[in-house]
Amino acid sequence: MTTQAAAELATEFYRFQSARLCAVLGQPVSHSRSPRIHRLFAEQFGISLQYERIEVSRGTLREVLGALRSLHCTGVNVTVPLKEEAAALCARLTPAARVAGAANTLWWEQDELCGDNTDGVGLVADLEQNWQIPIRGRRVVVLGAGGAAAGVIPALLEAGLSEIAVHNRDPERATRLVARFLSLGHVVALREGSTDVADIVINATSAGLHGNAPEFPASLVGRETVCYDLSYAPEATPFLRRARELGARALRDGHGMLVEQAAAAFTRWHGVAPSTKPVLAALLAR
Ligand code: NDP
Repeated sequence: MTTQAAAELATEFYRFQSARLCAVLGQPVSHSRSPRIHRLFAEQFGISLQYERIEVSRGTLREVLGALRSLHCTGVNVTVPLKEEAAALCARLTPAARVAGAANTLWWEQDELCGDNTDGVGLVADLEQNWQIPIRGRRVVVLGAGGAAAGVIPALLEAGLSEIAVHNRDPERATRLVARFLSLGHVVALREGSTDVADIVINATSAGLHGNAPEFPASLVGRETVCYDLSYAPEATPFLRRARELGARALRDGHGMLVEQAAAAFTRWHGVAPSTKPVLAALLAR
């Protein structure tokens, strides 16, 4: 954020002094649906909310957060590529953010920056509550070993699945990720040449952002397999198209997770839990 952009934001904010200020920070951030989701939540409670998208590059987050704090900002969402940087700046982290090493939800308590990671609870809520897809006792394969995978694996383990196998383009990164979570439950790197069918395959790669599906063993997907893509798009994502070809039982994308992780952040900031179903319906209707 430039000094001029900060000044413009300040001017805008003082026009809406009665509104609570929140923002999503990332790069790129222009596509973010968070402002719309949070405004729809705020309408449910008559909360006057100003929710901004702010383009922030790596290494400048501390400065931008300082500027937002001086504007009495209530809370901040953080997206790619700033989640790890955000966690490192926090004086206090929830267990979910600490174990993930990444924060997507920030706020201040007595001037101390606090961070949470709501991606995992968002995914679990979408699977279990919105789609009635039980996790307990299931064998789950996670594709990808980046920040999103790190955010969702602890929550999936806590939801009581029987095993998570991680598969990544760079296998060493998968091994390193698995090592971080060994103490939390049964998590392994997917065995090379494995022909086991998974109950749920979760695409946590960013391949879809470039119009691709990640490579994965076709044998993972059987007729009872649910395939879930953290990415979302108006049409079926490349991963979900591939899963459909392989005969998956159900295909879901990340719109529901997006709304559920936002709801957890909203509750944290405003102290009230919004209803997510109408907001998800409004998002999908567009
Ligand atoms: P990262 O950059 O941290 O990690 C990217 C991962 O994707 C790495 O494991 C990388 O593999 C893998 N990857 C990238 N391109 C390919 C490819 N062509 N083929 C196979 N694997 C590939 O990104 P994040 O983990 O932060 O985000 C991942 C996705 O999750 C994004 O699309 C993001 O939008 C989505 N997301 C959705 C949320 C929601 O609410 N719905 C919330 C959070 C994230 P390698 O290690 O080999 O490079």
